Amino acid sequence: MKSEDRNLHTVFDELLNRKDKEKLLSQRGIVIWLTGLSGSGKTTIANHLERRLNSEGIITKLLDGDNIRTGVGNNLGFSTEDRAENIRRIAEVAKLFMNTGIVTICSFISPTKEIRAKARAIIGTADFHEVFINTPLEICEKRDVKGLYQKARAGEITNFTGIGAPYENPDNDYIEIVTNNKTIDDSVTSLYQQIIKKIKWS
Ligand code: ADP
Repeated sequence: MKSEDRNLHTVFDELLNRKDKEKLLSQRGIVIWLTGLSGSGKTTIANHLERRLNSEGIITKLLDGDNIRTGVGNNLGFSTEDRAENIRRIAEVAKLFMNTGIVTICSFISPTKEIRAKARAIIGTADFHEVFINTPLEICEKRDVKGLYQKARAGEITNFTGIGAPYENPDNDYIEIVTNNKTIDDSVTSLYQQIIKKIKWS
């Protein structure tokens, strides 16, 4: 064995793998991918779920527009190509966290089946948990948390999802969470109960 081969062998031998890290943390690293219209409740549910998991000793990472668009995606706009590239980067970042054993919650409108399929392909079907925050458009528009629907209706924002651009509902292999006529706690508890068994280390 040449000396550089021996060095390489040693380096790989010493690398800790995902299972070692999951065991250390006593949890499984998975990706929880929240999709839904603007105002559907993704941010609210992600924040509450993260707090609940943390209070039980589970380490999480939340990826959302705030920490992605200002950093790894800060040279991207909202064209179809840029949206696809943004999702590719998010999925790759999520995978790095997941492979460190961290429960990674991604909160993005991710409006098309194609874009979500791309994220699923990068992360891997077994670890990718798609969660559809299913709130009707009229309710999201009534909530209008950020005043964006009003701007979209006034033509100040073009291609706004649900108004000028489509949102495609998932049609298979997803967890559905409803928020209309539910308390935040109802919605978060429903998601928690469906996801916790995938996180618990046994
Ligand atoms: P998004 O991140 O999808 O754009 P937000 O979480 O910012 O949506 O906004 C959702 C709004 O809906 C918040 O004002 C929240 O208080 C409200 N809301 C009402 N009921 C629920 C519920 N059951 N689950 C989540 N959000 C709810």
